[in-house]
Amino acid sequence: MKIHIDNKSFSVPKIIGVGRNYDAHIREMKARPTGEPVLFIKPATSLCDISAPLRIPHDQGAVHHELELAVLIGKGGGAVSESAAMSHVAGYGMALDLTLRDVQSVAKKKGLPWAVAKGFDGACPITPRFIDKSFVPDPHDLNLTLKVNGHVRQQGHTGQMIYTIPYLIHYISRFFTLQSGDIILTGTPAGVGPLQPGDSLQADIESIAGINTRVE
Ligand code: MG
Repeated sequence: MKIHIDNKSFSVPKIIGVGRNYDAHIREMKARPTGEPVLFIKPATSLCDISAPLRIPHDQGAVHHELELAVLIGKGGGAVSESAAMSHVAGYGMALDLTLRDVQSVAKKKGLPWAVAKGFDGACPITPRFIDKSFVPDPHDLNLTLKVNGHVRQQGHTGQMIYTIPYLIHYISRFFTLQSGDIILTGTPAGVGPLQPGDSLQADIESIAGINTRVE
């Protein structure tokens, strides 16, 4: 799947997820802040169009929704400084960081990786069209809302991020050279919960995207 901004299209080499970036979500997970961002990778095969019916695994326990602001990298680089970080951003979109929560809980207990819990096929529903960064004066001043079957499940504000987008780009690029088309998922606010077949979802990030979709 490609990501588009205006008439430009981007292949996605990798998706870097950030865990525990909103305090209220850390509390609801009964997790602890780690002092540095928690990173994981989702493969490009996890991408799917968020507006198409979402196909989720039915035999792996709970699949949780995590609504997140997605950052598209336009210019690659390694060891990017915080002050130069925003010059590497092409634009912004909306993603669900779908998580096999039961699988992840077992992995956490056993000290094993989250690869399956976070990286299965279809684990990253995303808007195929992103908004050019020039139309987003402050990506840390956006409201996020997810309704499931008409009820608000997640409501947050990107100003609540513990680690800002420039810091995340700086931190991530110490370990993973960023490439044009890479996507950073910036973490989810509180209110995560399980999805069921037949659920209807309404997801909005102010001035970035608003979509209706459903779970198959
Ligand atoms: Mg997440």
